Amino acid sequence: MRTNLAIASLMALSFAACDSSKPKETTPAPAATAIMPVDSTKSYDIALVNNKKDPACGMPVTAGIADTAHYKDKVLGFCGTECKNEFKKNPDALIAAAELK
Ligand SMILES: [Zn+2]
Repeated sequence: MRTNLAIASLMALSFAACDSSKPKETTPAPAATAIMPVDSTKSYDIALVNNKKDPACGMPVTAGIADTAHYKDKVLGFCGTECKNEFKKNPDALIAAAELK
């Protein structure tokens, strides 16, 4: 009797290294959702300011003023200190956007 040597077929089960590599989530810098702290104690009365709009960002002062600056005998309201600083850099260029009363 002949022993049939079953040729073990080497089934190279090439498991395609299942590297389910997820598309790398390119995490952009977390868009810091500027959460404005509601600080009712530090708000200015829009009646006290002479501008209708924040000269730096164009936001109407009715939306809230967080900071003010004096400019040529006028009191200007800003939505925030950043806008105020922006205005201070170039007041003459921005004053038109303030829509003074
Ligand atoms: Zn602003």
